[in-house]
This record gives sequence, structure tokens and C-alpha cells, in this order.
Amino acid sequence: EEPSAAMAVPQAGQDGLMLLQRIGVVDPYSIDDYRAHGGYHALRTAFDIGPAGVIREVTDSGLLGRGGAAFPTGRKWQATASQPDRPHYLVCNADESEPGTFKDRVIMEGDPFALIEAMTIAGYATGAHVGYLYLRGEYPRALHRLENALTQARLRGFLGDDVLGQGYAFDIEIRRGAGAYICGEETALFNSIEGFRGEPRSKPPFPVEKGLFGKPTAANNVETLINVLPILTMGAEAYAAIGTGNSTGPKLFCVSGSVERPGIYELPFGATLGDLLDLAGTPTEIRAILLGGAAGGFVRPDERDIPLTFEGTRAAGTTLGSGVILVMDDTVGLPRTLLRIAEFFRDESCGQCVPCRVGTVRQEEALHRIKDRTGAEASDDVALLREVGQTMRDASICGLGQTAWNAVESAIDRLGAFK
Ligand code: NAD
Ligand code: SF4
Repeated sequence: EEPSAAMAVPQAGQDGLMLLQRIGVVDPYSIDDYRAHGGYHALRTAFDIGPAGVIREVTDSGLLGRGGAAFPTGRKWQATASQPDRPHYLVCNADESEPGTFKDRVIMEGDPFALIEAMTIAGYATGAHVGYLYLRGEYPRALHRLENALTQARLRGFLGDDVLGQGYAFDIEIRRGAGAYICGEETALFNSIEGFRGEPRSKPPFPVEKGLFGKPTAANNVETLINVLPILTMGAEAYAAIGTGNSTGPKLFCVSGSVERPGIYELPFGATLGDLLDLAGTPTEIRAILLGGAAGGFVRPDERDIPLTFEGTRAAGTTLGSGVILVMDDTVGLPRTLLRIAEFFRDESCGQCVPCRVGTVRQEEALHRIKDRTGAEASDDVALLREVGQTMRDASICGLGQTAWNAVESAIDRLGAFK
């Protein structure tokens, strides 16, 4: 028996969920079951209000990108739709690889038709007729379920030359990643689809202007896209009333590590870190929490009041990133964890630019030297780490190099590592 996606969702089946409402409830292999649970209402609404109407609703909803960077989705769609150059492309970034992140996987395995419906709406709004779904190579179950869902959607007229008889042509191609973290960076992802090495391009120009195959492209994360379904079914105003003024709607959080009930949680924006820890249960003494992933940073267990919003985490000097809450108790050695993170970035750097290619190596070397040292014995290498880290942040081409020192810096400054 295949483990069900619901196993990763402690709230499965609860009332009031918006993004996880069908996970563990609906049969992920059946388009009829999807429709019986509200599926394809949002697409009908989209056809009723037209592409400009969809963009207006998404803009008014205040939806910010859920991949980690929180860029306004309505602005991205408007910018893509308004480009005169043709064709336009839609890309769904499903190369979920940030350590501790598994929300998109749960959606794709548990509710695959929702993503296909949301991509169809996004394509319609932005003027694309082809959507690429770039799927992390290590997600074979999601691949299987999405392929089945695509076949069913085509057979039933939800994809194809004339979607639902509305005169709009749209279809989706799946492209699988091959295990490179950097291919989740949107421009490296485009290169990968185009058959080139997975190396990021310099931005600007942004993809909305020159993206896949050099054409206007809206690239969105899986969680971002499925938010469009409740936005259209409940209306932008009702959606924007959820959460806080700057972070609207619901958010998925990926909770793992030393907790009683690990998994994906859905909460309206505005809950605090402490609220989430209480839901997940923390039986042991917590030593540290990695917030936002390896590109994010550590916070202390006494920082429970940090609001889990984009603005709240920023004000607290950290980031929400892709919604990672990785809890470490005192059995986890901090220097070893930092070394593991540094090794990860060194391994995943594409090597294209010097600050990141060399900086990630120097960072790992320094952490190796000081893993058993503190105080004066570590101070020279801590100073070196700061210098290298700042250089990577200031001079790297893409987010990988720019954030490769975040976790180490926060461990030194917030947790007092190597003191
Ligand atoms: P970014 O800020 O450069 O861009 C965010 C998005 O906004 C991109 O799609 C970009 O094209 C668009 N954009 C930015 N400025 C624009 C403008 N002026 N006009 C039009 N579009 C514009 O960030 P990024 O490098 O794409 O992403 C970094 C984030 O990715 C980090 O916050 C990190 O948390 C996250 N991340 C997530 C995962 C994951 O698995 N989910 C993995 C690694 C990193
Ligand atoms: Fe490649 Fe790192 Fe430069 Fe990004 S920052 S382009 S991953 S070398």
C-alpha cells in the first residue's frame, strides 16, 4: 500500500482548510472526484471574468509568491500579459529543493488536478498556450500522479485546443529535473528546459520580459499557483481579509525535526512561531529553529513571538523563505549542522561566478577548522567567515551565493556559535 500524502498532513480532513482541503480526502487519480470536491469551479470563473479580470482579482488579493521571495503575483502576471512579444510561456517551478521544504510535494501528490487547474488559469491570464511544469527529479510519485491527471484532463476537455469550448488552447508539459538544486533558480530552470547547462542568467531582464526561450514568461511556485483557486472562488476581497495587511491568505509551513507531529501545516498568515510549535508539539528541550530553510537562518527557542508573516520575519531580522520550520533539540550538534549546510552549498554551487564558487569552499574549510573550537581559538576563522560571507552576499550572481552564508551568520550572531 502506497503511503498517502495525508500522512504528511496532521490537519488532513479538518474543516476550514483552503489549500489542503482535499489532501487525504480526494482520490488523486480521479478527475471526477476532484470535481465532486469543488474542482474546476475556479477555471469557469476565470472564463467568466476574462484574463484581465483574473489579473485584477489576483492583484487585489495581495497574493505574494510562495517560493520564498514574496514577489507580488498580480504584478508578475500583468507584466507578462502586457508584453507584445509572442509567444508567452507559463512555467510552474516545482523543483522544490530547499532543505526542509516539502509542501509542493504534498500538494502534487495529494491534489494534482488542483495544480493543473491553477496552471490553466495562470496561462489564460498571462496569454500563454503552453505551460511547463518543471518537477524535481526526486519526486516520482508526484510525476506519476501528475501524468495521470494530465491525461484525464486532456480526455475531458480541460486541456487541449479548445479548453471547455471557450476557444482557449492550453496544454502542459512536464520536464523533470536531474537533482541539481540550482535548477530551481528560475533562469537556470529555463536553461535546463532549453537543453543548456543549469546556470542562472543575470537579471534583469526579468523573465516577465525575456524568460523561457527568450520570451515573456510567468514563472510561479506550486503553492503560489494553487492560491489562485480560492482567490477566484471566494473573491479577492474575502481572500485579502485573511492574514495580515501585507501577507494575505493562508500559508503552508513545513515542520520537521524534533517535534511530535511533523508535516505540512496550513495557517492563516499572522500566527506566531510559538503557535506553530504548539500545534506540532515539542517534547524535548529545543536548542534552535532553522526558519526559512538553509538559505534562511536560525532563531532561538525564546523567539516564539516572531509573527510568521513576510513583514514580521523581516522585522525580526530573519526570513520566512519557503516556510521551513526545522526544529533542533540539544542532541543535534550545531557545528556539524553548519558544516553540513556549508557542504550543501559548496556542492550545489554551479561554479559560474567566483564569489560563490570560491566562497562556498572557503566557508566549508573554515567551519571544518573550528568545528571543535570556541572563543579566541575560533575568532580568526569567524572573522574570515564574515568577510567571505559578505563578499558572497554582495557579489554573487544569484540567490544561492547571496544566501549561502545566512545560516552560518545567524548561528554565530543569534545562537552564539563558536563563542
Ligand atoms: P528574486 O527576488 O530575484 O525574484 C523573485 C521573483 O520575482 C522572480 O520570479 C523574479 O523574476 C521576480 N521579479 C523580481 N523583481 C522583478 C521585477 N522588477 N519585475 C518583474 N519580476 C521581478 O528571488 P529568487 O532568486 O527568484 O528567489 C529567491 C528565493 O527562493 C529565496 O527567498 C529562497 O527562499 C527561495 N528558494 C526556494 C526554494 C524552494 O525549494 N522553494 C529553493 C531555493 C530557494
Ligand atoms: Fe552559480 Fe553560485 Fe554564481 Fe549562483 S551565485 S550563478 S550558483 S556560482
